[in-house]
Amino acid sequence: MAGRVDLDGNPIKPITICMIGAGGFIGSHLCEKLMSETPHKVLAVDVSNDKIKHLLEPATLAWADRIEFHRINIKNDSRLEGLIKMADLTINLAAICTPADYNTRPLDTIYSNFIDALPVVKYCSENGKRLIHFSTCEIYGKTIGAFLPKDNPLRQDPAYYVLKEDASPCIFGPIEKQRWSYACAKQLIERLIYAEGAENGLEFTIVRPFNWIGPRMDFIPGIDGPSEGVPRVLACFSNNLLRREPLKLVDGGESQRTFIYIKDAIEAVLLMIENPARANGHIFNVGNPNNEVTVRQLAEMMTKVYSKVSGESSLETPTIDVSSKEFYGEGYDDSDKRIPDMTIINKQLAWNPKTSLWDLLESTLTYQHRTYAEAIKQAMSKSTAN
Ligand code: UDP
Repeated sequence: MAGRVDLDGNPIKPITICMIGAGGFIGSHLCEKLMSETPHKVLAVDVSNDKIKHLLEPATLAWADRIEFHRINIKNDSRLEGLIKMADLTINLAAICTPADYNTRPLDTIYSNFIDALPVVKYCSENGKRLIHFSTCEIYGKTIGAFLPKDNPLRQDPAYYVLKEDASPCIFGPIEKQRWSYACAKQLIERLIYAEGAENGLEFTIVRPFNWIGPRMDFIPGIDGPSEGVPRVLACFSNNLLRREPLKLVDGGESQRTFIYIKDAIEAVLLMIENPARANGHIFNVGNPNNEVTVRQLAEMMTKVYSKVSGESSLETPTIDVSSKEFYGEGYDDSDKRIPDMTIINKQLAWNPKTSLWDLLESTLTYQHRTYAEAIKQAMSKSTAN
């Protein structure tokens, strides 16, 4: 750890970070990285600490004096401002960010992503503290190309689909398509943070994650989350594979996504933390443009990888089609394609992702199999016995 320097060759001084949402998927990986590779201190704020328990106990861990957990719901806790004041930097990861909630719980989605984030921005601005705020690639909505006829050659032109932080428009569907409640709330909080920067000098960085995936993402329904819950696609497909049921392709599985390994993405976040002069005032896409697949291709690849890591044969019918209305309910809509432009993050932080889709699925599904296969077997045999 000694002798660590930033991208400009200056020694990195230890700082205190107030991490809101530290107990989630991204927070848990970020805490791991900060504890094992840096001298920084983390005030970990969340309503639950299940995903970071291994970092908090026992007290003999090498970093025990550098991480403390505060069980706080930021909606209604006066301790929040005190923690932000104690820290040099605040990172806000707290959010509802599972699409199944956007159209079924639009109020919770809007409150969580906009209203609850407001005091965090305000306290940072008023106390002159730096803020790294987690937004989303969903802020881009649909691509311009999505509105062209299917056979129009311009659809192949990157100008019509590559998503650029400083140039692409945000294109959402009508209000009755409540899917966009999330993107819209995230857009408004981004605009507010940007305005705090412009008018009041807030030092901010905004991160737009493009489908970060890996171990500890979301939950497996009926095992460590509600049985009726619908997590994001990685956990949905993992759940299907673990239970030996066909993977459900929503509306034909034609949407395209670029997936990035969480560990690659965390490297980018650490660069932002430790290079404030290069990161402040910027919005960064963080994704892997080389890992693009359709959801159908993702299902096929996950089926192959899971068969390799579990030693189980694949099903004869590995996928089935479902309509989005059946799967998500009224008001669902989708982003057609998400390719991040990497110019700004390359220029400011000299960062690039490394892990291929196959490799990241292999390590993630190995984790899923090791963590859940036994629990699923037991749950399934119990339900047949009943
Ligand atoms: N999806 C699917 N089957 C599932 C879960 C999701 O076909 O079991 C699709 C979903 O409609 C979307 C894509 O997978 O097109 C990615 O969904 P996810 O929930 O991971 O989040 P998003 O990338 O849309 O934010």
